[in-house]
Parts: sequence; C-alpha cells; structure tokens
Amino acid sequence: MRVVITGGSGFIGSHLADRFLADGHQVVCLDNYITGHPGNTAHLTGRADFELIECDVSDGIPVQGKVDAVLHFASPASPFDYHRYPLETLRVGSEATMHCAEFALKAGARLLLASTSEIYRDPLEHPQRETYYGNVNSVGPRSVYDEAKRFAESTVMAYHRQAGLESRIVRIFNTYGPRMKVDDGRVLPTFCAQALRGEPITVFGDGSQTRSFCYVSDLVEGICRLLASDYSGPVNLGNPNEITIRQLVDEILAVCNSTSDVTYQDLPEDDPKLRRPDISLARKVLGWEPTVDRSEGVARMVDYVRTELARV
Ligand code: UDP
Repeated sequence: MRVVITGGSGFIGSHLADRFLADGHQVVCLDNYITGHPGNTAHLTGRADFELIECDVSDGIPVQGKVDAVLHFASPASPFDYHRYPLETLRVGSEATMHCAEFALKAGARLLLASTSEIYRDPLEHPQRETYYGNVNSVGPRSVYDEAKRFAESTVMAYHRQAGLESRIVRIFNTYGPRMKVDDGRVLPTFCAQALRGEPITVFGDGSQTRSFCYVSDLVEGICRLLASDYSGPVNLGNPNEITIRQLVDEILAVCNSTSDVTYQDLPEDDPKLRRPDISLARKVLGWEPTVDRSEGVARMVDYVRTELARV
C-alpha cells in the first residue's frame, strides 16, 4: 500500500509510519510541525519508500499519485497544546477532515480518522462504550478539541453514508510512550521529568481523577487491525487498566527511585473525573487487546524521558 499519514511527524503518526514501513508499505507523512517534531521521522529521511511533505492539511492534501489509505492524525492533542492553538485545532478537525475525505474519495482510498475518548468528555457512563453519546460542554476550554473531533466523526460518517467512502474511526484513549513531548503538559511525561529532576510533582485537584494508559505499540497494532477490518463505526482503543493520578505518582516515584515532593494545584476547568475504555468491541471485531503492562510501559517511558532530559 501507499499510505498517507497526516500529523506523520507527531507522536502517534511517527510510530504508525515506522510500522507501515516495517510491514513493507510506502509512507507519505504530512506535517506542519506546530506540535509535531521533525526529529520523530529524521531516521526515515532518504529512504526510497518514505516521503515527508511540510504543509498544513487544513489547506488541502498536496499528494500526487496512487494512494491506498489516508490516516488523519494531524491535531494538537494535549490540553496544553489545544489551549495554545484553539483555532488550528478546530480547523484541523473540521476543514482538514473534509479535505482528507474528498482526497480519499477521489483516490479510491480508505480513510481512518484518529478520534478520541474526549468524545465522551466528562462521562456519566463508566467505563465508556462506543454507544455512549458523551457529556460535552460545547463552550468550555477543552471544547475546541472535543467539538472538532465530534465534527470530524460526523464528517467521516456523512461521506461514508452519502458518497460510499471506505472509512474507519478509532477513539483513542490516553496513550504514552517514546516521542511524546516532554514539555507539552501531559501527565506521564510531566511526572517522569519532575521525578527524574527531583522537582515537586504537580498533581491537579486531589488526584482522585482516573485515567487508563495505553502503551503506544499496543495502540499502533490496534490501528493496523482496524484499518484492515471492514468495521466502519467508531472503535475504542485503549488500555482498560484504570488508575488514579495520585496512584500514578507513586508508581513513577518508585520507578525513578525519586524522593520528589507532591504539590497540589487547582484542577483545570472541565478535567474529566473518570476515564476507562470498554474495549469489548475491539476484542470482538479486531481480536485486539493491549499486551504491555503499565509497569513495563512506565519503565520504558522513564528511560525515554531520562534520555530526552540528558539531550536538551
Ligand atoms: N495532570 C496532573 N498534573 C499534571 C498534568 C496532568 O495532575 O502536571 C492530570 C490532569 O488534570 C488529568 C490527568 O492528569 O486529570 C491527565 O492529564 P493529561 O493532560 O495527560 O490528559 P487528559 O486525559 O486530561 O487529556
């Protein structure tokens, strides 16, 4: 296949590029680097089966030639980044998704949309199944991401129903691993960096809010299976192993052998209280479930953050 990945120099996009190349496919990555990083795909430069185009996919998809699949992963994805780039976040979820759909349709390609557990926002159903409609505040500070992704899902389904677009939608729950930006405010890289530097760990709220963290290689495997499947409705991919943020601090301090203090700061507005995927559908239609335990994943994450801190 020849696969186009928008946001291909981002955290998840670049891992997907590695995987498709390893499986013998050709990859075209598109990125404007507002939150992606050229270093994530630097090791692929010069390969005959790899192309990188610097562009803003909200303006269009500047790719020529045969394409078999488009994976739309471009978007700011940390709360810190989408607060910093609210209009870019809205455009890449809306205009860029429409460009991807039009492009895929003309190319006769399959479109896979990276959606999110933020579709469910502050959920009243727990764990969250794909059938849950969510509890979204359309005017809150997180709404630019949530509403952009909801619009994106709606767009993909409209092209699927009305124009026959071959489409897939993955709802990604909190994912972590190497190539996450250490300074984009997300909890795992932030806590690892603070613990390794011996700085106070910044818990927002009382730390009783929960998340369920999936290691990136598990997510990539699920996405590949979804792309190859014939299931066009949304599918949750994530690790159902749920933990409070306060418990996460203790796990990270132990792995880092750190004595950092813990400080408590105000909970950001609209921070979801609970999050855990119900992955029954992914198990059924993709035969997928995560294989990397948090203990193993966090140890790898700490190694990665240690290397990053030594590098900068
Ligand atoms: N969080 C925290 N301290 C930090 C960063 C995040 O306590 O320095 C909390 C945040 O309030 C949220 C959880 O960790 O409840 C996960 O935050 P993240 O930004 O990683 O992703 P989210 O799931 O909120 O999109």
